[in-house]
Amino acid sequence: MTSLLELAQVQQYPAATLYVVATPIGNTADITLRALHVLGLVDRIAAEDTRNTGQLLARYGISKPLVAVHEHNEREAALRVIEHLRAGERVACVSDAGTPGISDPGAKLVDAVRAAGFQVVPLPGASALATALSAAGDWVATFTFLGFLPPKPKQRAAALQPLADHGHAMVFYEAPHRIVETLQALADAFGPARRLLIARELTKLHEALWCGTLAEGPAWLAADANRQRGEFVLVVEGASAQASGEADHDALLRVLLEEVPVKGAAKIAAALTGASRNALYARALELKNEGGEDDAD
Ligand code: SAM
Repeated sequence: MTSLLELAQVQQYPAATLYVVATPIGNTADITLRALHVLGLVDRIAAEDTRNTGQLLARYGISKPLVAVHEHNEREAALRVIEHLRAGERVACVSDAGTPGISDPGAKLVDAVRAAGFQVVPLPGASALATALSAAGDWVATFTFLGFLPPKPKQRAAALQPLADHGHAMVFYEAPHRIVETLQALADAFGPARRLLIARELTKLHEALWCGTLAEGPAWLAADANRQRGEFVLVVEGASAQASGEADHDALLRVLLEEVPVKGAAKIAAALTGASRNALYARALELKNEGGEDDAD
């Protein structure tokens, strides 16, 4: 029988290559055999936090030279990594948790290494994004990953506003100190009725997955002070096809109403969209009246 280590070794691991290696997001056991094999094989590891990675490696009896590559030095550190690749080394890149480059350092390093002509090889593994989505259900069949929202309320609202009609589920990352205000901002932007999944402390001792609506989310969080602690993935249902279709119709009617009377706008919009002319006429009237005019031709 083939041993598990042999399976990890089936692939070749050429020299002068950057290996992007996913590490656990909580439970230390969530590391792949290939990740351990490659971390043991490389000459050097570029790590977001060398102390944190040192502890993970120690759990698996691996000791390697570490290079710090974090948010604030990624471009300069990339030059050093490229020097090591030029010398023929295999270099691994890891972040503090999960998959590098996903709301984490790694992406700029990948760009620089590829631009310098070296191969980049990804080793898949844990990510909070995929972990939360895997337990969300069919309503997230199509999704958009948005990572962290801006911390300031004004910028956050501005980032959410154009997403109100977005038809895919939306996935956000959030830290404990902003979870309450972020949930409120999501409800303000998308209304109370949309489905919400809160995935907290995934793979950890106090893991919790809760599914309800945007209106119910704050009460779930407030029911126990502990629920506001830890790390969060938030998944929000996209606008329904009907709602986003209606928004498209509104946008079209608004443009037409600037040029032609209500009846004509409804006729053209019906021809372009295939929607009911009567329904569009009624909506065009509403829009015209909202605009302060009440002359239905
Ligand atoms: N690169 C990581 C990944 O692949 O998921 C994400 C790193 S990002 C700096 C950290 C954020 O990811 C946290 O604030 C949280 O939103 C999310 N996250 C990471 N681990 C998590 C966990 N165990 N449970 C829930 N969310 C988590």
